[in-house]
Amino acid sequence: MLRTVITASLPRLSRVLTCLYSASAIPKPNTQPEVHYNKLFINNDWQDAVSGRSFPTINPATGEVICQVAEADKADVDKAVKAARNAFKLGSPWRRMDASDRGLLLNRLADAIERDAAYLAELETLDNGKPYAIAYSVDLPNVVKCLRYYAGWADKWEGKTIPIDGDYFCYTRHEPIGVCGQIIPWNFPLLMQAWKLGPALATGNTVVMKVAEQTPLTALYVASLIKEVGFPEGVVNILPGMGSSAGAAIAAHMDVDKLAFTGSTEVGHLIQQASGKSNLKKVTLELGGKSPNIIMSDANMEDAVEQSHFALFFNQGQCCCAGSRTYVQADIYDEFLERSTVRAKRRVVGDPFNLNTEQGPQVDEEQFKKILGYISSGKREGAKLMCGGGEAADRGYFIQPTIFGDVQDNMTIAREEIFGPVMQILKFKTLEEVVERANDTKYGLAAAVFTRDIDKAHYISNRLRAGTVWINCYDVFGAQAPFGGYKASGNGRELGEYGLDNYTEVKTVTIKVPQKNS
Ligand code: ADP
Repeated sequence: MLRTVITASLPRLSRVLTCLYSASAIPKPNTQPEVHYNKLFINNDWQDAVSGRSFPTINPATGEVICQVAEADKADVDKAVKAARNAFKLGSPWRRMDASDRGLLLNRLADAIERDAAYLAELETLDNGKPYAIAYSVDLPNVVKCLRYYAGWADKWEGKTIPIDGDYFCYTRHEPIGVCGQIIPWNFPLLMQAWKLGPALATGNTVVMKVAEQTPLTALYVASLIKEVGFPEGVVNILPGMGSSAGAAIAAHMDVDKLAFTGSTEVGHLIQQASGKSNLKKVTLELGGKSPNIIMSDANMEDAVEQSHFALFFNQGQCCCAGSRTYVQADIYDEFLERSTVRAKRRVVGDPFNLNTEQGPQVDEEQFKKILGYISSGKREGAKLMCGGGEAADRGYFIQPTIFGDVQDNMTIAREEIFGPVMQILKFKTLEEVVERANDTKYGLAAAVFTRDIDKAHYISNRLRAGTVWINCYDVFGAQAPFGGYKASGNGRELGEYGLDNYTEVKTVTIKVPQKNS
């Protein structure tokens, strides 16, 4: 699942790390940020669930409950969809609003998030477990940039005039699709929210967003900012709740026009089916990956080791585009394996509020157990455990940075998405061989190649079946560049100008042009 995103290029990451060590650039965090909002946000109003039910959200660093959060289900989804439909009615304040003013609202939202960035980063760390220094230096700035990028598009998303045959004037209008369901994951809660809201709102849609049950808190705080900056009632509705109830209700809803989902490939199948069984709502999916990261023997060794480490371990390994199959050319394989192991052993795991921490806990117990299960399967199936391989603390969901060497393509750890700090290193001999092996997967989200030979870089990148290929870098994201998957990694693209297509209906208007004055 994409759950991913990083947004940090290596130069960017080194800036982050510099900040980590000269902590003055990062405000000292409050390790117990107050939770201000824990209800459903419908029609710019805070509401309890119709059922009255709530669920606990957990601090993954301790396993303790942070607070209870209202739990939306189908009845609440119905209310939120009604609110969003109302806000989308012709003549409503939102539909009458100038496109430039929609842009202004998005910019104001970005400003408010920037103002409260330290608090939002604290809350993200508390609820998700990601290191505060990263949340503050990487996630938050990229949330703000994404919203500002799409704010700029609001009054620039132009149609065309088209020279059709005959005496006609033909043009296209780019219109909003309508009520958009958006279901987001827990690995980058704030960033995924921005990726979804930015293009949907810039193009004039209304939104019913279900946030992940593991990490509802920051999205709800952003909801309060949406109200504060002046979005009209019902334009954005935010529902915490479970996937199988609230999520499924959005996917199956007859009055939701479009659904954007980021999450696992398994749930992606269900979303498509729900669309097919209901109203054929338009579906975009950003799903799982098992991305190959190819290290050629002419690569800069130090750089390749560091960036491959980053490619896999960033965000506790919880990235849909994690470089989770590291293919290394035979003549440098032993050195690469050894250096990577040294680097992984140096990785600082611990309290995510500590500014030196590189790796916090996994998001929840379920993920924690699943990852430990994959580590067992790696051992069982004969991969060579180089380091790690177990829990890293006696409470919370911490896992040791783990590396497997001598991994074979058919092993479970080389085929399935682990979504944790577990690196697979595989050996290859020739270019042709590695391209074939890299493509031998149901996924196609991302890939990378490290080489100093431009011909090899192009040879490989042109042949890889993946939505993103990084050359001599990894996880370099920008709001301007599209991201999405080939094959079972998804449908459609997010970010950039391409991301606007997902939220647009194109209307063709054709006018007869009289050839003489009547
Ligand atoms: P993970 O297993 O890593 O949590 P999921 O794909 O299950 O990944 O979750 C991503 C998002 O999809 C979350 O918001 C989750 O609640 C939601 N979700 C899970 N199951 C369903 C479902 N059947 N229908 C709609 N949404 C779902």
